[in-house]
Amino acid sequence: MIKCLIWDLDDTLWEGTLSEDRRVTLRPGIIEVLRSLDERGVLLSIASRNDHEDAMEKLKELGLAHYFIYPQIGWAPKAEGIRRIVSRLNIGMDAAAFIDDNPFEREEARACLPGLAVYEAGVYGQLPDFPEFQAPAITGEAGRRRELMLIRAEREDAERQFPGMREEFLRSCSMELMVRPARQQDLARVYELAARTNQWNNGLERVSQDVVRNYMEMGDKRLYVAELKDRFGDHGIVAVAMLDLLEEGLAEIRLFCISCRIEGRGIGNAFLGTVLELLQLDHPELREVRCGYKSESRNRPALMLLKLLGFTLQERKDDFSVYGLPLPVSYLTPDWIHVHSPRKATEPVEERNGDEVERRVISLVAKLWGRPEVGPETVLLGGRGILDSVTAVQLIAELENEFRVVFDEDDLLLESLSTVGNVVRFIEAKLN
Ligand SMILES: [Mg+2]
Repeated sequence: MIKCLIWDLDDTLWEGTLSEDRRVTLRPGIIEVLRSLDERGVLLSIASRNDHEDAMEKLKELGLAHYFIYPQIGWAPKAEGIRRIVSRLNIGMDAAAFIDDNPFEREEARACLPGLAVYEAGVYGQLPDFPEFQAPAITGEAGRRRELMLIRAEREDAERQFPGMREEFLRSCSMELMVRPARQQDLARVYELAARTNQWNNGLERVSQDVVRNYMEMGDKRLYVAELKDRFGDHGIVAVAMLDLLEEGLAEIRLFCISCRIEGRGIGNAFLGTVLELLQLDHPELREVRCGYKSESRNRPALMLLKLLGFTLQERKDDFSVYGLPLPVSYLTPDWIHVHSPRKATEPVEERNGDEVERRVISLVAKLWGRPEVGPETVLLGGRGILDSVTAVQLIAELENEFRVVFDEDDLLLESLSTVGNVVRFIEAKLN
């Protein structure tokens, strides 16, 4: 499903070339197309070769500027602009589309950005009818998606300007997370979230509305949701977990998904941790919880989250693994998230006693990466690595400083730096 459509301007959104003649005219029916996509929650953006100020002024004059988020207007290659939009929205390239009248631009985008859907400008009128633009359900959140993304953009700007540490910033956000059983009126949103999320989605299973309803109604099933508010606004329902109570003290998380809009703040951890607490309060007889994981590169953050919560691999068949966690278990809520739940307001509890070197390495990597989802399996370098050469060098400098060790040139092997776990072993060997 396409979550963001990126528009060229000249001879695509309007007829004519703005830099040659300011009297461009909108293509017929274009406003209806923009409105229709916007209402169903498809985000709109721009990649155009034009003078930024001229183009924005024209868009304002035409009454369209408010539709577009993170417009990339300038003279750099469009592929660069598209990549920037996709990365700021934190969506996959396969959830983005680009429409342009110029075959060169289309081919360049196709070649540089695998996964991107590319359309010739002439089809704009049919876009709202294409299957990839059909929203699974129109919900309150869908209609507000652009507004919610703008709230996020505002938060990111505030974050960049915030003088203190990231944790101080997060504390200043006043995040309130309500974790509760789902209600009938949540059904459409739960279904939509399961259909849209990729990164924090363990099973990548697109469940039907009937299945969702079953999880609300059946005695041996549980469906929990989380709503998030912070000082930037009300984000609505941002996380879902569907659980089965099986016999012999075993529960299984069939599906959990967390909106990528709110990633990187520890919300996923707080949500699933609270779900496990609620589950244990209701079912103290439970001895284990399991969770399936369908392995695809795009949902690796979901695996990271399971590992952060202490889940370990039980079995694997092809691309499907089962992770397990013995119960009872308690967890640590980051102190910047205030968790509410109908049964219990969770208090921070003792952190799991991890290995000291590992804990410190994880914290350094999380700080450099700017995200908390780091564990021993986190890949640092290589195709799926989270570090580029610049941040890798920075990490080495910080490790040398933190552990009073020296990496000489022979130590800089790809193997010893490939994952967090390998870095930990390498440092432990150095220290001994
Ligand atoms: Mg053009």
